[in-house]
Order: sequence, then structure tokens, then C-alpha cells
Amino acid sequence: MTKVLYAKPIIEESKLKLAQKTANLKKRGFTPKMCVILVGNNPASLLYIKNKKAFCEEVGAEFELIHLDEDTTEQTFIEQIEKVNTDKSITGLFVQLPVSKHLKHIDISNLVNPEKDVDGFHANSSLDLYRNTEKSFIPCTPKGILNLLNHYEISIPGKNIVIIGRSYIVGKPLSLLLSNRDATVTLCHSKTINLKEITKNADIIISAVGIPKYLDSNYLSKAGNQILIDVGINKDVNNKTCGDIDFENVKNHVAAITPVPGGIGPLTVNSLIENLILATEKISSKKG
Ligand code: NAD
Repeated sequence: MTKVLYAKPIIEESKLKLAQKTANLKKRGFTPKMCVILVGNNPASLLYIKNKKAFCEEVGAEFELIHLDEDTTEQTFIEQIEKVNTDKSITGLFVQLPVSKHLKHIDISNLVNPEKDVDGFHANSSLDLYRNTEKSFIPCTPKGILNLLNHYEISIPGKNIVIIGRSYIVGKPLSLLLSNRDATVTLCHSKTINLKEITKNADIIISAVGIPKYLDSNYLSKAGNQILIDVGINKDVNNKTCGDIDFENVKNHVAAITPVPGGIGPLTVNSLIENLILATEKISSKKG
């Protein structure tokens, strides 16, 4: 029978651990504090921020939102980042994307203090991933996928893993992470030829494309033993949230599958707070 790989039990367990770590840090005088910088009023961004704030509060961490106007100047935006970078009370900084059009050319990831890089996109964090040292921060969605595989005891070494989507947020860092853990990774994208032939040979398929329900049983092996991980967050024709995978179509043709919603999305927020606590632990250990 197909197993549905829900995020909920992972997050419940993780919240307890994170609350314990936060309490320990506070006892030593270090309070984890997340700062989110938001430009404008994108409704999806406001919802994501609400979730992050709630998660922080649940584990005892502090949260601050710096909400800037849509037409904030480049100078003010950069000054705000620099101010947070040096603010000793803030241990994690996250710039919520998208920013306004006139700020899009800015290399935001590298403006963030690497010690507070809870997003995991600073060049230092990318280099660590590339070199397989993983000393700094792992990007949140790939980290959430690793947590899911660990929790459900899905072993990685030697597995043939096909990732569809090569964005710097998901596919690329994930390909490195899994390769560092001894998987054989195939990274596919919009120009990949014969995608269906490639996915049919996978042990694990991870889709991060952004096309509602495109992946159906035509992409799958007939053996029914594959594991599917759906990163996509899309809207279907009825404006309902759905993934890249046609869940109803494939659910009886695979060994296990993540749901949307209730799968990789909440695990991504969980990873962000894990990175916040990690950042605070690193700062605390430097100060003794
Ligand atoms: P992106 O738009 O940056 O990249 C999409 C990738 O899909 C590209 O590499 C492109 O080459 C590939 N692609 C496009 N059409 C394709 C096709 N027909 N066949 C094969 N590959 C194709 O996307 P992204 O930012 O990585 O996001 C992808 C999806 O994941 C979106 O639905 C997004 O909302 C979702 N997402 C979810 C989370 C989460 O927390 N669950 C996090 C990030 C992104």
C-alpha cells in the first residue's frame, strides 16, 4: 500500500527539540531572534511571514518584521540589511522574496551577514555545500527534504535520484546535498530530452517545477516501488493548492509520496527555524 509521507509528525518532534535548544540558549543569555525584511505587501509573502512568526513564537524564539514600502529606495533597503547585520540582538536574517522590481538586481544573498544566513544562500554557504564540508547553513527546502528522508528512514546512498527543476533555491543545492550523501543524482530541467524515460528508472523522483499536476503515471516505473517527493506549490483549475504531481493519478502506482499541502512546504519553514537556532548556537559558542 502507498505510504503518504506527511510533514506533521516530523514537525511536532522538531518543535520539541527546537524549544529545548532555545531554552538552553536563553539560560546562557542568548535568545534566538529572527528578523524578516519585507518590501511591499505581496499577499503570499505576508502569509509566509505569519507562519514563520508563529513557528518562532512556538519554540520560544523572538521575531521582528521590518516592513518597508514598495517604493523604498535601494539605499534605504541596503542600509536596513546592514543595520540588522550588526544588531547583536538579531541572530538570523531573512529577506522575503520577491522584492520590488527596482531592487531585483541587488545581490541580496551576499549582503546578508554570513553568520545570520538562515536562508543558506550566501556564497559561503554555497561553497561549503559545493566542497561537501557543510559547515554553514543548508538552504531550507533541500534541508526539509533531507529531514523527511531521514524521518521515514529512506536510505540515500547508492539510490538513483532524479530531480526535476534546477533552480538555485531547490534543485541545484539539493543535487549537491544528495550527491554528498552518495546518491547518484540526475538533475533534469525544461530542456531535458526523454524525461519520462529518465524518471522511469529512478528510485526516488523529486519534482520542483511549478506546473500543476503535470507528473502522472506515464512518468513512472510499472514496478510501483518508487518514492515521489513533490516540492511544487501551485494552484489547480479550481484555485486549490496542489503540487507538481497528480496525486490521485499516481497514488496507487508508487511506494510512497509526499502530499501537497502538508509535505515539503511546512518542512521548509521548519528548516528555517532550525537554521535560526543553529545560527544562535554558533554565535553563542564563539562568545563562549
Ligand atoms: P523555478 O521557476 O525557479 O524553476 C523551475 C525549474 O523547473 C527550472 O529549472 C526549469 O528548467 C524546470 N522546468 C520548467 N518546466 C519544465 C518541464 N516542462 N519539464 C522539466 N523541467 C521543467 O522554480 P522554483 O523556485 O524552484 O520552484 C518550483 C516549484 O516549487 C514552484 O511550484 C514553487 O512554488 C515550489 N517551491 C516550493 C517550496 C516549498 O517550500 N515547498 C520552496 C520553493 C519552491
